[in-house]
Amino acid sequence: MIFENVTIIGIGLIGSSLARNLKEYNLVKKITVYDASFDYMKKAQQLGIVDEIALNVEDAVKEADLIVLATPVGAFGPLTKKMKPFLKKGVVITDTGSVKEYALREIESHLCLEDGVIVVGGHPVAGTEKSGPEAGFLELFRDRWCILTPSAFSNNEAIEKVAQMWQVMGMRIEKMTPVHHDKVMAAVSHLPHLIAFSIVGTVADLEGYEQKEIIKYSASGFRDFTRIAGSDPTMWRDILLNNKVTVLELIQRFVEDLIALERNIRWDEGDKLFELFSRTQKIRKEVIDAKQDQPEHEKRLCAEMRKI
Ligand code: NAP
Repeated sequence: MIFENVTIIGIGLIGSSLARNLKEYNLVKKITVYDASFDYMKKAQQLGIVDEIALNVEDAVKEADLIVLATPVGAFGPLTKKMKPFLKKGVVITDTGSVKEYALREIESHLCLEDGVIVVGGHPVAGTEKSGPEAGFLELFRDRWCILTPSAFSNNEAIEKVAQMWQVMGMRIEKMTPVHHDKVMAAVSHLPHLIAFSIVGTVADLEGYEQKEIIKYSASGFRDFTRIAGSDPTMWRDILLNNKVTVLELIQRFVEDLIALERNIRWDEGDKLFELFSRTQKIRKEVIDAKQDQPEHEKRLCAEMRKI
């Protein structure tokens, strides 16, 4: 048992996948859940993945040894402010937020080091475009990276315990600063997501095309962008607005590269196109070799969802 009483705030895709794992591997004594949606909490209880539901923040956190924030990052600050008076000395707060500098600033600005509250920033780099407690599943974290971003509010013992919790679920741990995390994620996650949002919006709004034809022939490429663009709107609004500087720099760079591509096509620069596509094909192979492609269990799950 790594922690005794664990409180998960936000029982969506990530919170419920975590709860499933904590139960499966017997990692904790009791799991309490608090979520803005009473129906989600009830559902989680029916699924047998939590022990107690709390109707307010005080009841959720007063006995907790570990609190996991798994709501959209925009809620972290207000939640920490509300929970602060009820926290036990020595409690560890960790989070699952996809941006780390903003998330930790929001959490830590409501705490003082003298309170004895420990914070270990975390980001399990695993997910799907689905939301809610029924979208979670046991294998979500397997063979994926969990990035921990220790700060002045962390200590080695708590970092080790949080790391151990994710490792039991099959995650590999990497530690980095929040700023470095946000830079890396801007490239591998935030930019690809915003391009998907943009392309799906553009194609859907094209004049002179039949909407039903776009859907009918979507397997030619559009479909793969719609998977990413189908992600939760609140979560992605919060991520993009709170990693603004880095994301804006990358958009600038992307626009320049897109214009270069436009020029290559306009001037029939086939060699340049071929060279770029060969390079991107090699990158695809490297992703597969690093086992970062969609794993078989996720593919099966997606295929089953499509049948429903
Ligand atoms: P999700 O499925 O939408 O679940 C979030 C849950 O938090 C929802 O049930 C939501 O309720 C609840 N919530 C929102 N505000 C709240 C508040 N103030 N108090 C209590 N509950 C609140 O989201 P998720 O995909 O699990 O993401 C959770 C966190 O993990 C985010 O910070 C995200 O950045 C991070 N993350 C996500 C992924 C991914 O691929 N999805 C991957 C890694 C990390 P309502 O729906 O009623 O608002």
